Amino acid sequence: MINLELPKKLRASANQAHQVAAEIFRPVSRKYDLAEHEYPIELDTMAAMIEGLSDSGTQDISGATGGRKAEGAESDEHATELLGNSNGGNMSALLNALETCWGDAGLMLSIPYQGLGNAAIAAVSTDEQLARFGKVWAAMAITEPSFGSDSAAVTATATLDGDEWVLNGTKIFVTAGSRATHIVVWASVDRSAGRAAIKSFVVPRDAKGLTVSRLEHKLGIKASDTAEIRFEDCRIPADNILGSPEVNVEKGFAGVMQTFDNTRPLVAAMAVGVGRAALEELRTVLEDAGVEISYDKPANNQHAAAAEFLRLEADWESAYLLSLRAAWMADNKKPNSLEASMSKAKAGRMGTDVTLKAVELAGATGYSQRPLLEKWARDSKILDIFEGTQQIQQLIVARRVLNLSSDKLK
Ligand SMILES: Cc1cc2nc3c(=O)[nH]c(=O)nc-3n(C[C@H](O)[C@H](O)[C@H](O)COP(=O)(O)OP(=O)(O)OC[C@H]3O[C@@H](n4cnc5c(N)ncnc54)[C@H](O)[C@@H]3O)c2cc1C
Repeated sequence: MINLELPKKLRASANQAHQVAAEIFRPVSRKYDLAEHEYPIELDTMAAMIEGLSDSGTQDISGATGGRKAEGAESDEHATELLGNSNGGNMSALLNALETCWGDAGLMLSIPYQGLGNAAIAAVSTDEQLARFGKVWAAMAITEPSFGSDSAAVTATATLDGDEWVLNGTKIFVTAGSRATHIVVWASVDRSAGRAAIKSFVVPRDAKGLTVSRLEHKLGIKASDTAEIRFEDCRIPADNILGSPEVNVEKGFAGVMQTFDNTRPLVAAMAVGVGRAALEELRTVLEDAGVEISYDKPANNQHAAAAEFLRLEADWESAYLLSLRAAWMADNKKPNSLEASMSKAKAGRMGTDVTLKAVELAGATGYSQRPLLEKWARDSKILDIFEGTQQIQQLIVARRVLNLSSDKLK
């Protein structure tokens, strides 16, 4: 029989993340929504907490590091009682991302030392690199002015010169790009070799030749800084390349793409967290208005708003379960590209549908700035865009289901 209950150990760390969300994020959520680009000083409290949690072996509050830690740190593997069935770093990361986004998605993306670049480092670094980069705060820079969805179209270059790589190019929309201590940058080591030559590099933000050239103004997640970064003859040590420097045309850019199998379920979980926040608030608004939501009566025998609520909750539940499955597969070393994209496609759409419908059902109150409903509707849209848009996830799912290559199905 399937047991959908969370193991005890995972519940403890999810509760801890929930506490951070409820006690640190929620009280300042509106403040930083209205003060875009202002540095949330509460993050310093977070940084101190993370340091403390790190000492106690549970530092992955947002979940971005996927539970992998620098050498010497205790492993996050939580083997369950069930035979051969393991819930490890990915599952723990997913639950933490969900809980912290229930608090505030923009602040979650600003949690020190928990950037998407950290997920890339955790996914593909060697043990030696993990020892060097396991405790940095790393943003992730893939997108360029000339492309977004088509990650094979990288034009930034990395040229080996003696024992250094020399980076040139421009990256845009880098989350935490002005706050992180390091940036994981995708660049080509040989433009003539196509996608196989795309590699990722860990670049300290204070490296000479790296400039944060502007910050974006956005629809939502305003507490999160989104930066444009220029690299002009930016030099980094040769061993700051993640994975092998070898260009293997057979393998394509599977190495760098591997990161997405871990990060997409996390972004799906972020949408699940924001969706749950909206559903909880909506339930209160409806109950205050005298609308009874019953799980015993059929939906067609209830108030129209209650029936709609039940539909939204079912949609939310399916997104949640798809994300759990994708993370569970990653923890159990099962190939999960299809399931990771399925979870992100479903959760991304659910997040925008649920939050916008919650605004609608709460009426004028929902549209006002009194509750956070309208903020969550603005925040959730990004979760259906970054780490691969809704359309790109559907494309990946279609390719996998139909067994068609990216050349055949574009
Ligand atoms: C707030 C924010 C934070 C971000 N953070 C980061 C970050 O940290 N690091 C980073 O590297 N990037 C980041 N991004 C960039 C993000 O990943 C890209 O915006 C995203 O990949 C989409 O690329 P694009 O905007 O160029 O859209 P495009 O690729 O130009 O797509 C435009 C539209 O066309 C659709 N489309 C594209 N190709 C196809 C196709 N083959 N079939 C069907 N439809 C298609 C897309 O789904 C989309 O609806 C961020 C963006 C934002 C807004």
